[in-house]
Amino acid sequence: MSKKIDFPDKLEIRQDLWVDTPCSQCPETYCCGNLPLTPLRLNRHSDFINLILSSCYNGVFPVLKKTGEWTFYLERDCRYLGKGEGLCTIHQESHQSVICKSYNAHTCWYVEAFSTERYTTMIRFNTEMIIWYEKRYKLIEKNFNSEIDWNELCNRAYDYRQNMIDINPESFKPFTSNTLSFKKSRVNQLLFFPPYNRPANRKHFELLSFRLGFPGIYLAISDSCWAFMVSTELNLSRFNNIRQEYYRTIKHKDGAYSFDQIFLEQRPFSETGEQWIILQRSDLKTLIDLTVFDSSDRVRKIPSSSIILKALKSKSPNRAAS
Ligand code: SF4
Ligand code: SF4
Repeated sequence: MSKKIDFPDKLEIRQDLWVDTPCSQCPETYCCGNLPLTPLRLNRHSDFINLILSSCYNGVFPVLKKTGEWTFYLERDCRYLGKGEGLCTIHQESHQSVICKSYNAHTCWYVEAFSTERYTTMIRFNTEMIIWYEKRYKLIEKNFNSEIDWNELCNRAYDYRQNMIDINPESFKPFTSNTLSFKKSRVNQLLFFPPYNRPANRKHFELLSFRLGFPGIYLAISDSCWAFMVSTELNLSRFNNIRQEYYRTIKHKDGAYSFDQIFLEQRPFSETGEQWIILQRSDLKTLIDLTVFDSSDRVRKIPSSSIILKALKSKSPNRAAS
């Protein structure tokens, strides 16, 4: 499951004034309230388990795109989104991520995907809809080779969703410590998303800066792998639905983004002991200052976990260990 950081080669920083962009007329600011977490292919039974299990966490929802690719999103507002007017409060400031600065709102994907009256380019799912979808198209019985007409699926999914009461209460506990023991990472309130590789060049840090702008998202660092840690909560009624419909003995740790799976596949190791070093967005500068780059901005040396922890502790001595 080793993942590489996927990042466009060229990012062109745009200089548009906010009032001159379609964003100033945007009904919902979808881009700043729905964070893409990771893609997923639905080819095997184990993919299905990952899909349906991850959909049980509050705020986490999968979408199916016309291309056949699934992507997990987190429904949560970026901390820099101005309440009410939908304006980015750090627009064009130096600490706004290049991911945001380079996004071309004139060809925005989000508006069509999230706001159309009926589904056209993507379908938003939840646990109940995944069960409906699997049974309707006999995905398991046909070994995930069912022939599905996209337009028909869009219509059926839309009609099905119309009749649903969509209760999706968002809740998570903010994390304040700068360490987290591997043992405590096993709770059902934390998910760990790729990239599991460490950054290879300076622009990879822009992805960190973008994602860490969303509350409850942290960077979990070990000396062998890094993960985005999402603070959320397993929704027990959805989880029990899965047990009743499919797998009577399934546990939250069976999902691809639980700590137990990361532990099995990535073997995180930290020289400070059996623990992650946890970084918030305000810690990124410290991390970047400690990283050695060459003249082409490729990463030459990433500091060890103990060096990072020491720097974090001297910067914020009051942040308690977990
Ligand atoms: S980038 Fe797209 S979704 Fe985001 S505010 Fe602008 S128009 Fe709306
Ligand atoms: S920093 Fe990016 S994601 Fe956050 S509000 Fe501004 S434009 Fe939106």
